[in-house]
Amino acid sequence: MQYVSTRGHQRLGTFTDVLLSGLAPDGGLAMPEQIPTFSAAELERLRGLPYTELAYEVMRPFISDIPEDDLRGLLRQTYRAEVFGSEEITPLTALGDSGLYLLELSGGPSLAFKDMAMQFLGHAFEYVLERDDRRVNILGATSGDTGSAAEYAMLGKERVNVFMLSPHGRMSRFQQAQMYSLNEPNIFNIAIEGVFDDCQDLVKAVNADAEFKARYDIGAVNSINWGRVLAQAVYYFRAYFALGLPAGAEADFCVPSGNFGNVFAGYLAKAMGLPIGQLMVASNENSVLHEFFSGGVYHVWPAERVAQTSSPSMDIGKASNFERFLYLVAGGDAVQTAGWWAEVGAGRPVDLRGTVHWDAVAASGLRAGRSTHADRLATIRRVDTEFGRLIDPHTADGVLVGKRFQRPGVPMVCLETALPAKFGETVEEAVGRLPERPAQFEGIEDRPRRCEVLPNDVDALKGFIAGQLDIKRRG
Ligand SMILES: *Cc1c(COP(=O)(O)O)cnc(C)c1O
Repeated sequence: MQYVSTRGHQRLGTFTDVLLSGLAPDGGLAMPEQIPTFSAAELERLRGLPYTELAYEVMRPFISDIPEDDLRGLLRQTYRAEVFGSEEITPLTALGDSGLYLLELSGGPSLAFKDMAMQFLGHAFEYVLERDDRRVNILGATSGDTGSAAEYAMLGKERVNVFMLSPHGRMSRFQQAQMYSLNEPNIFNIAIEGVFDDCQDLVKAVNADAEFKARYDIGAVNSINWGRVLAQAVYYFRAYFALGLPAGAEADFCVPSGNFGNVFAGYLAKAMGLPIGQLMVASNENSVLHEFFSGGVYHVWPAERVAQTSSPSMDIGKASNFERFLYLVAGGDAVQTAGWWAEVGAGRPVDLRGTVHWDAVAASGLRAGRSTHADRLATIRRVDTEFGRLIDPHTADGVLVGKRFQRPGVPMVCLETALPAKFGETVEEAVGRLPERPAQFEGIEDRPRRCEVLPNDVDALKGFIAGQLDIKRRG
């Protein structure tokens, strides 16, 4: 399978080529040249496979440059009960007989769904770097879940160092403790005296220095990484089969969304032939995606318009994977996609109203809904009293929107994107008690912290990275 850019069909190579690179040279995102599909009979064959086998069948057609046995090995190393907390890896639980289901994706080491893909990336990176005798120094910015998922995935990986920027003092106490208490020689937490956008700007500034980037093997594991998208498609198949529907019957899914990575993986599963009916994009107050799906206009929100909410991992004004969706909506027309993103880049809206593309969006099955802080509190409370189950505020966004769009007789699978323990303050506000914590996180706030505080200054950051890597090189 060959990969191309969404903006010009520039050839980007095979899976392992795009795994380690970020944006395409023309600024676009990597997409497979075509999307393989499963027939109804083939889907029946996948039903009942264990997670790793299913992952192999779903991912294999996209990965032509890792030998079959090696890929099976990588998937077995990744999706283990010890890492994800259960043999099923992603258990599906019915919420009473409401027709709503929770797909549990947060049993991994960082207690959020990002582990599902990031753990695979950790093993896949190690494999490719070993094969090619390379090293990579991952530089990223996080406002919470991505950073810890990346760090837990790269723990102890010999050829990888992680430099993770976070806004000093602005994450939840639990999230700070989760990252900063890691005491590992290849993990560097850097708290920047600034906000999340400053952190992201610093990452961009370092990447803009081609000489520094090449000299220090700077790489990324951000949300546009194709390997992450692909690994996430697997659990849509898994959940669908777990419902035990008759062959061909539709199921709906609802996905708490920010960068559009998770829900795009669902769209990929649908494009591969999985009978998904509606695919709901749930937003919080930062409802840029809701604006598009309800009105036909995509207009990126400037940073100052993005509110800080109680589902912070969805506080995003532009959805970085959205370009992949519009590219498919345009039937793989890269010229059209490049035209749209030239508008986006110039700060102008993309208006699809009255075009054939808007008809294609309507036919895609994607719809959107949004919630407020009060909605989330009420939903957490309702799910607790009706079903005896605590959910986190992001999952609450999804359950609220999923319920609103439920169709009679069609199951609605809501993705649980984090455990409530991660967002104890909001859960306590909703139900008057703190959620339970997995044992390994007891007292995490009291553990010693390893974190470098740096000013919001690119030279200070480069100096720190270079200094640490030079020390390592000298051994
Ligand atoms: C990252 C994240 C999201 C948003 O996922 P996207 O793939 O960026 O749309 C939702 N909920 C939680 C808890 C997250 O960590």
